[in-house]
Amino acid sequence: MSVPRIAVSGVRRQWQGAGRTGVNAVYVDSVASAGAVPVILPPTIPPEHAARALEGVDGVLLSGGEDIDPTWYCMDPVPQLGALDPARDRFEFALFAAARERGLPVLGICRGLQLVNVAMGGVLWQDLPSERPSAVQHDRRDARDARTHGVAVTAGTRTADALGAQALSVNSFHHQGVRTLAGGLVATAHAADGLVEAFEGTEGAWLVAVQWHPEEMHGDPHAPDRGLFSALVAAAREAYCR
Ligand code: MN
Repeated sequence: MSVPRIAVSGVRRQWQGAGRTGVNAVYVDSVASAGAVPVILPPTIPPEHAARALEGVDGVLLSGGEDIDPTWYCMDPVPQLGALDPARDRFEFALFAAARERGLPVLGICRGLQLVNVAMGGVLWQDLPSERPSAVQHDRRDARDARTHGVAVTAGTRTADALGAQALSVNSFHHQGVRTLAGGLVATAHAADGLVEAFEGTEGAWLVAVQWHPEEMHGDPHAPDRGLFSALVAAAREAYCR
């Protein structure tokens, strides 16, 4: 059985006095547990080298992190906009385009979901509490694996197949969200307030994105969320064997 390689988009952070690059370990742990080799791609790679960065890679995981610069979707920034990383934006948009060009499967998580929506022509809420007030608190301060709000998943979708569930409770650490879903995408899970919590591509290679953080459920062997990584790896294995 082949072992696919999954690119995981990384972050830049200051840590103990040094600028460093990496990603939360639970992302790479989740990919490795699903049977693939995780390969972290730092956001400092020039965007024109995105296709080269994907050589030998069979699938892509777009990780969470900073807000996307709203100029990418033609909006002026609101005061509540969070931290940006313009270089990371440029690299990840190029990475996503290169992945689609190659027909590679893509899993987007949190910022990754938002990036896919914007890349395909969608628009985001820049700050849910001020722009789209709701009874559902999406930007929680709980433990990373605390399931704090429900989502309803549409039956018969790739998202539902991956999760093996049509209703589950999820963790939630986001203050942005899908305002207008891009063409070529279909919403596959919603919170009780109607916010899109997952979507998938309607054509082309396997493309699923979720607004919550399935990687944080890594410690629970029975978590349905782990099915998202298994499905990504299965799709990557198909790409590898093609
Ligand atoms: Mn949420």
